[in-house]
Amino acid sequence: RSSLKIGLIPADGIGKEVIPAAQKAIEALGSDIPKPEFVPLLAGFEYFTRHGEALPEETVSALKECDCALFGAVSSPSRRVTGYSSPIVALRKILDLYANIRPVISVAANPADKPDVDLVVVRENTECLYVKQETITTTENGREARATRLITERASRRIGKMAFELALDRPRKHVTIIHKSNVLSITDGLFRETVRAVPQLPEVNGRFDGITIAEQLVDSAVYRLFREPQIYDVMVAPNLYGDIISDAAAALVGSLGLVPSINAGDDFVMGEPVHGSAPDIAGQGIANPIASIRSAALMLRRLGYAKGADRLDKAVDEVIREGRVLTPDLGGHAKTTEVLDEILKRI
Ligand code: NAD
Ligand code: MN
Repeated sequence: RSSLKIGLIPADGIGKEVIPAAQKAIEALGSDIPKPEFVPLLAGFEYFTRHGEALPEETVSALKECDCALFGAVSSPSRRVTGYSSPIVALRKILDLYANIRPVISVAANPADKPDVDLVVVRENTECLYVKQETITTTENGREARATRLITERASRRIGKMAFELALDRPRKHVTIIHKSNVLSITDGLFRETVRAVPQLPEVNGRFDGITIAEQLVDSAVYRLFREPQIYDVMVAPNLYGDIISDAAAALVGSLGLVPSINAGDDFVMGEPVHGSAPDIAGQGIANPIASIRSAALMLRRLGYAKGADRLDKAVDEVIREGRVLTPDLGGHAKTTEVLDEILKRI
């Protein structure tokens, strides 16, 4: 590639503050990556309130012309809004970004030490309750709401393969399957069974034989995550559990403002901080830009630009380790731009 076309979708709230920071960090990489060409794109709840749609067709078609993208966050209201549907949930489906990969890593005080927490949540990104097939009817007992939870063998198999693939590249080579098959023996049962069977698939050719497999019910998985996070390496989970576990894991490393992700498919990758639009701090210029900068690093790494990704990660680690210039979520007093400047100096 002679240039790298990167779609930027800040969307709502602090997405508008952290995505420009990630853009500056990418620009600072110079010749370690192909010349970046940024394509600003619109989507989100605010866009919806003005234009009646949350994800304009131009954004989708422009994204299909990009090499990769960075998404900020959307402010999806908790009440039902007629005609509105979350653009990020839609984009994951439209672009078939079936894996949401969320590394949660603590920064050791001494760079030579192993981090206390070093795990990756691999979240299925296209089905489970997020198919959003909800209905409501009125019965003699009042209103009755139902939701469909879809688990397919195909999606479970490909997310399982992704999890084992990631485990191969990690020193511990250990996969924990998260489920609730003791209650949901059919849906979670299918997920659990299908992921477990991945190493025996003929097309896998025994490549995953050296990987150890454990499984854990989702509720006790969260308990053990807080008590002994070291037991986890790769955690693979259906969509909803994966969403919840990764926010919980963020607490172990200090802030949601630190945890990145990529939405990955077979031919596209979109970086996205794990956090949301943070309406409680939006507009104050104090959002932590690190999750977005690390998401940019993950995206570049997936595209094969390990050197650029390493430079971003190293710069971020140094700023965290020094602990002098941090945003309030990490106990500091710095603004987003001050943290960004510290990072830029070290890239
Ligand atoms: P949130 O992640 O926005 O915020 C949770 C808490 O973490 C807040 O106290 C917030 O201030 C803090 N926080 C999050 N990111 C931070 C950062 N970068 N720096 C400093 N502090 C940070 O979760 P929420 O409050 O449950 O949701 C708010 C909105 O975001 C909702 O409308 C929700 O729908 C949306 N949301 C969107 C996404 C997404 O776009 N993928 C994900 C989660 C939530
Ligand atoms: Mn979430």
